[in-house]
Amino acid sequence: MRCPSCREPFAQAAVAQCPRCKLTLRRLDTRFGTVPRHSRFVTDRSASLPLRDMRELRSLLNLFHRKFPQSIFSVFVMPRIDGGTIAEFIFWLANRARFSSLGATGGDNFDVLLGIDLRARAAALQIGYGLENYLSERDLERALAQSSAALSANDVPRGVRACVEFMMERMREAAVAAEEHTTPSSSATSSPSEW
Ligand SMILES: [Zn+2]
Repeated sequence: MRCPSCREPFAQAAVAQCPRCKLTLRRLDTRFGTVPRHSRFVTDRSASLPLRDMRELRSLLNLFHRKFPQSIFSVFVMPRIDGGTIAEFIFWLANRARFSSLGATGGDNFDVLLGIDLRARAAALQIGYGLENYLSERDLERALAQSSAALSANDVPRGVRACVEFMMERMREAAVAAEEHTTPSSSATSSPSEW
């Protein structure tokens, strides 16, 4: 992953300190305070999304979860971010709030968190460490690029949808590639499920 503040790449950040800018979660705790209350799939702290859009987004994110049962895609819409950037905020949130129903941490965490800062019209995407084997920084940049036009036009639901759909497609491709990679070439007389 990359540091949400200075973009320095580093590994397994949960308890680490960024080697370049010395960012720590504790430092973000003092900036952002207590973890805000959140709902399943979509949290609209701006209270500006129409109910119909909220319902449609929830059902899209529910579909995502059905396709990738280990993974929960959560969306956080903030009216503004005080004390930092949206990238810092969702990095902090992903580490401090538990979105996964399994409470999965570290390499077992496959969750995705999309944050939107309405005032800055900026978005950021954070993935669990378990997904870093399958998705690259470039994938995340492309996913965010899908939503940027809609966000600039203040169409948050469309922006979120574009990002989720892109991630769904990329994760499907990554899952297929991983499966092909691990398929045993030996004869199939005994299947691993019988062990
Ligand atoms: Zn840094």
